Amino acid sequence: MTSDVLVIGAGPAGYVAAIRLAQLGKKVVLVEQARVGGVCLNQGCIPVKALLHGASIIRNAAEARVMGLRFSGPEIDLVALYSWKARIVERLVRGIEFLLKQNGVELVRGRARFVDRERVVVTGEDGETELGAGSFIIATGSRPVRLSGVETDNRLVIDSSGALNLVEIPKRLVVIGAGAIGLEFATLFARLGSRVTVLEMFENVLPGIDHEIAAALQRLLEREGVRFHFGVQVKGLIHGTPAAVEFACGSDTRQVEADRVLVAVGRAGLTEGLELEKAGVETDEKGFIRTNENYQTTARNIYAIGDVRGGPLLAHKAMAEALLLAEVLGSEGRTGPTGRTPKQRFHAMPWCVYTDPEVARVGLNEREAQGKGLNVKVALVPASAVGRSLTLGRSEGLCKMVVDQKTDRILGVSLLAPDADTMIGEATVAVELGLTAEELGRVVHPHPTMSELLLEAAHAIHGRAIHIVNR
Ligand code: FAD
Repeated sequence: MTSDVLVIGAGPAGYVAAIRLAQLGKKVVLVEQARVGGVCLNQGCIPVKALLHGASIIRNAAEARVMGLRFSGPEIDLVALYSWKARIVERLVRGIEFLLKQNGVELVRGRARFVDRERVVVTGEDGETELGAGSFIIATGSRPVRLSGVETDNRLVIDSSGALNLVEIPKRLVVIGAGAIGLEFATLFARLGSRVTVLEMFENVLPGIDHEIAAALQRLLEREGVRFHFGVQVKGLIHGTPAAVEFACGSDTRQVEADRVLVAVGRAGLTEGLELEKAGVETDEKGFIRTNENYQTTARNIYAIGDVRGGPLLAHKAMAEALLLAEVLGSEGRTGPTGRTPKQRFHAMPWCVYTDPEVARVGLNEREAQGKGLNVKVALVPASAVGRSLTLGRSEGLCKMVVDQKTDRILGVSLLAPDADTMIGEATVAVELGLTAEELGRVVHPHPTMSELLLEAAHAIHGRAIHIVNR
């Protein structure tokens, strides 16, 4: 069987590329070894956020006491909670399968490996099938990085996928890594009643984020009972009853007891078993596929998108790359309806972390902007400046806006605030389209909403904020 385009991997990168290419009239085959939806739908974005939502009800119920609403303590049926999450995933998986079918994408179940630049072999339940195509898109995603001395065994040591398959809540959970994944699970299990300790080799949470946001987030998590050790080097496990994680902190060697250890120290490109060398596709030292600015690999007719080509490992980045590449491949080099080619790539890439309140960021932070030699103006507005935050019972947090002093263009926004995941959409439009603080400040924002925090920050840049004292 020969198709115009064969896509390997049906995660957000692969299924989106396949559907758009089919809409553009291409004959598309999509090969997937597991369930459609990839890590995002099956082991990442969706299941984790579903569980976090469930766990937030526990905190909300406890906090309702100050509003005069009293509930008795929670009875947590972890198996039922996890099966609720599984039903959400199942529904979305079926939805993607339906859309693939309706758009005429042929879904082939099995594991693909290259024979050469024009052919792959797919090993599935019915044996091996050889498939040819004019172009190939590799969208095989990423896998957790392993930590030497703390290898995943799915009993004591788990990774993020293992954490989504537990049958009981660990009494003591040690999370290694204070990045997005580590902090989301720390939030989840702290709410479910675990005693959570986070070990991080850097000096703060979410390495790379502005220090004001990192410090405020750490304080909030500590208030929920999460304990942190920074600047640590994990040395290994001490097996026993209870087990413990041993780590070095300066000249000290310390231990922390654990019923489960969750390793969340980053992800690497998933290319194992693809036999890329047979197709002349090269990877870098971290296992990510090398691509040029058009997502083309070292083999001319083979492209790579999503996590497997590195960059920010985010589902929306994977989907955005899929759409750009599909427009180009599907319109024979003419620009698509968006009028864009991969060369005209987006430069504003938002990201969110679903702690409570959420953290979200887009564009440059203050240090990065200064590193580029820009003179910047900065506004810092506390979330409590906006009435809506108090009505939500979440007045902690802040918004930091960074603006180019010369042009007044908004370079970046960082948020720690309720609804930050939604608000960052507006900030992304501002950064992507090069809006100035003056322009954003002229746009009417609805009241009472958290979006007024962005408005206030745009005003504060010019010393015209109303709900905080201008500096
Ligand atoms: P994947 O989703 O990994 O899909 C790759 C697919 O390829 C898989 O289905 C795999 O089975 C298949 N495959 C691999 N090899 C082969 C082969 N040889 N043959 C056939 N099929 C193959 N991102 C966000 O933007 N927001 C979030 O909130 C968020 N939360 C996350 C939480 C967790 C715990 C994790 C782990 C990740 C999270 N991410 C989040 C990241 C997000 O899941 C990834 O960025 C996204 O899934 C990448 O999409 P992809 O299509 O590139 O790869």
